Amino acid sequence: MLLLIPGPVMTHPDVRAAADRDIAPWDHDVRAEIGALLVRLRRLAGGQDGVHVALPLPGSGHFMVEAAIRTFVPSERNRGHGPEGGILIPATGQYADRMVRLAREAGRRVTILPASLTRPLDPAAVESALRADPGISHIGMVHSETSTGVIHDPEAIGAVVRKLGRRMILDAVSAFGALPIAMTDHPEVDALIFTPNKCLEALPGFSIAVCPVDRLDECGGRAESWSFDLADIYQNGLANGPGAGRFTPPIQALAALGTALDRLDAEGGREVRLARYRDNMAALYDGLEGLGLRPFLPRSVQGPIIMNVHAPAHPDWDLRRFVEALKRRGVLISNFRNTEEPSMRIGAIGAIARPDILRAVAAIGETLDELGLRPMTRAA
Ligand SMILES: *Cc1c(COP(=O)(O)O)cnc(C)c1O
Repeated sequence: MLLLIPGPVMTHPDVRAAADRDIAPWDHDVRAEIGALLVRLRRLAGGQDGVHVALPLPGSGHFMVEAAIRTFVPSERNRGHGPEGGILIPATGQYADRMVRLAREAGRRVTILPASLTRPLDPAAVESALRADPGISHIGMVHSETSTGVIHDPEAIGAVVRKLGRRMILDAVSAFGALPIAMTDHPEVDALIFTPNKCLEALPGFSIAVCPVDRLDECGGRAESWSFDLADIYQNGLANGPGAGRFTPPIQALAALGTALDRLDAEGGREVRLARYRDNMAALYDGLEGLGLRPFLPRSVQGPIIMNVHAPAHPDWDLRRFVEALKRRGVLISNFRNTEEPSMRIGAIGAIARPDILRAVAAIGETLDELGLRPMTRAA
């Protein structure tokens, strides 16, 4: 089956093979290997030795978004431990909405900034929202909005956040490994968050945050949760070695990520990977337009990670039925939509290339025909 979903993505057989063994996470050699893996991840994130650290947390990306919010954003309840705070979350799509829920349920004060679903976030809007409320300590921003396909710009937004002396939590889960971001250029970032199973093309099971060590020292004790406390994970690493976990880690998934990073290096690094994804996306965009389908985003805004396309304007359209029919042709796409209007989401990331996309486009065309949904091609 060809998976064109926004994670977990297709992986190389070598990556899966790395997980095909029993491993003792508490063994000293294994701890050293995990420690080395974390150094590699910190470097990949443009972090500096002694200034930044990569921290692992078992669980999916949402777990890390919650951990970052708990660790760095002061809450009403723990005011005694430090300053008041709150988090501004621009409503860029479903992943931003999820961050809102995680922050609220962690008891943090959330301010929602209305935002466009079809354009990158406006730095001026962020600036006026932050100026209007000096009590907002953080912005929680999604780098690649996996619900819409729009890439938001941490360079432009980060400059505003730095200027106003606030902090940023950056959900780069569907961006990291392909889109550029370097912690050294972003002293305003408290946590750069990503997972192994998107652009790094490895297996799911844990998530990573790269954080400044001085902030981890400063913010200890805020999390109100042992499980989700990044400052505690950091302290444990100092006490027992950086590869030491507090609880059983998903050790096979960690091992697979090492192999996946070897493959990223062998491919030529992040920029070469991004070029492959851009080529995948160009083939997908052209192909779906060629079938007469209408993209959700104009080409100028379409990011290289995932594409939303409007469903054919046909009374018989049913996403579930379409996905099942397409699956019978060996292609799996996302089976839920994030837009208000009926649409479908197709990923362009993972261990795939243009021929895979062309095969998928052909299968989509055949499925539209099979279900009698082929939209009218636009008049010349
Ligand atoms: C995939 C993703 C996440 C995390 O999803 P999990 O299913 O929890 O791993 C978070 N943010 C974005 C933007 C994502 O694409």
